[in-house]
Amino acid sequence: MNLNELTIKEAVEGLKNKKFSSVELTESCLKRIGQRNTEINAFISVNAEEALLDARTADILIGKKKAGTIAGIPFAVKDAICTVDLRSTGAAKILDNYIPPYEATVIRRLREAGGVVIGKNNCDAFGHGASNENSMYGAVRNPYDISKVAGGSSGGSAAAVSDNECIFSIAEDTGGSIRQPAAFCGVVGLRPSYGRNSRFGIMPMASSLDTVGPIAKSVEDIALLMEIMAGRDPKDATTVNEPVPLYSKEIEKNINGMKVGVPEEYFNVKGIDKEIIKATEKEIEKLRDLGCKIVPVSLPHTKYAIAAYYIIVPSEDSSNLARLDGVRYGERVKTKNLFDLYAKSRAIGFPEEVKRRILIGTYALSAGYYDAYYKKAQKVRTLIKNDFEEAFKKVDAIITPTTPSPAFGVGEMISDPLSMYLADAMVSPAAMAGVPALSVPAGMTKAGLPIGVQIIGARLNESAVLRIGYSLQK
Ligand code: GLN
Repeated sequence: MNLNELTIKEAVEGLKNKKFSSVELTESCLKRIGQRNTEINAFISVNAEEALLDARTADILIGKKKAGTIAGIPFAVKDAICTVDLRSTGAAKILDNYIPPYEATVIRRLREAGGVVIGKNNCDAFGHGASNENSMYGAVRNPYDISKVAGGSSGGSAAAVSDNECIFSIAEDTGGSIRQPAAFCGVVGLRPSYGRNSRFGIMPMASSLDTVGPIAKSVEDIALLMEIMAGRDPKDATTVNEPVPLYSKEIEKNINGMKVGVPEEYFNVKGIDKEIIKATEKEIEKLRDLGCKIVPVSLPHTKYAIAAYYIIVPSEDSSNLARLDGVRYGERVKTKNLFDLYAKSRAIGFPEEVKRRILIGTYALSAGYYDAYYKKAQKVRTLIKNDFEEAFKKVDAIITPTTPSPAFGVGEMISDPLSMYLADAMVSPAAMAGVPALSVPAGMTKAGLPIGVQIIGARLNESAVLRIGYSLQK
């Protein structure tokens, strides 16, 4: 086995027992990136020199037994997350040359625990998309079949982990961007509860939904990362002041006796792939065998999630993106007229999908339409949230497919934004409700593409979600 193929747990063991050094581990990931980036395109920037310096430091600290929990482990970061002194573009030309003078809190915490930032992952620009084709740095290809998309918006993160170009990656999920690409690429991804992890330093998309979480090869690794990342941050007022459970211990607990809900609304989605239903049913059977009680539940407002999501998200997008005008960062069109400068810089600095959302959002927020669109969508969101609250009175967690289909073809949906939006049918409801959701691999289709199942939990109950995911993966 090559070093770059290890999980965090295995790599930490190997480093501790001096089987290899962090420099060697980091070099093996860098080598893999070098071999694969032209084809997969999972990285926008590679941080080779700095990473090797950090790896050397980690080796010294490990030698002195002063190392943090993930000392010397190379990881990647979605490019919509700010990394200090390391180019962060959000995959849009408007921030092409942006080098943040500060660091996202979650990344700071991971570095303090010894993690080594190896590079920045490609993504849909500012997180807008479900295929990674809305990046201004080219689409990301699925490592299982390069004619397929890697999913989005965190396609680069999922592909990089799946393709063993890094040990794990940190990404962002507003409405599925961690879970859907994780499912498409056969890896594990957690969207934590809203407020569990600090978003300080994450390029904002839709602030009332944005979350940041890990993509890794195992649920065990996700549990470990959450222990490091989670918790109150004075720099993000939405973070909750609740103790962070020891997730690595939590997942060891037996799931015998847990109640797991199956919502019929996720199984009769129009056009859902039969192989996906079968794979999910197989996981449900596994849970039954492990002693879980399987309970039918209903989430009746699921069908309105996409419609409401695609009002709320563009509205908040349009507001958040107003700050990017070509004056301070990125590409600027030279002209004497200030208005022209804004308009033309934004015209070349944003891809089509971002512009589409700015137009939809600006319209939905305008004085005459606010009540009819944004306010109405927020009311629908409350109904969706209530559905989950009702269900979690009866069950500890809910299991669903993560996506209605396996990875689709590159170019297949890009000219049809509506069908691309519909690809989020199963991931957007949990996001609207602010509850945690995990995607775990659940086998492959006959054509050899990965399938993911989603475990959804009550707010702040990441423990239940990870426990079930861990048992399934084991
Ligand atoms: N497909 C979703 C969207 O385009 C994903 C967004 C996200 O989670 N960043 O809005």
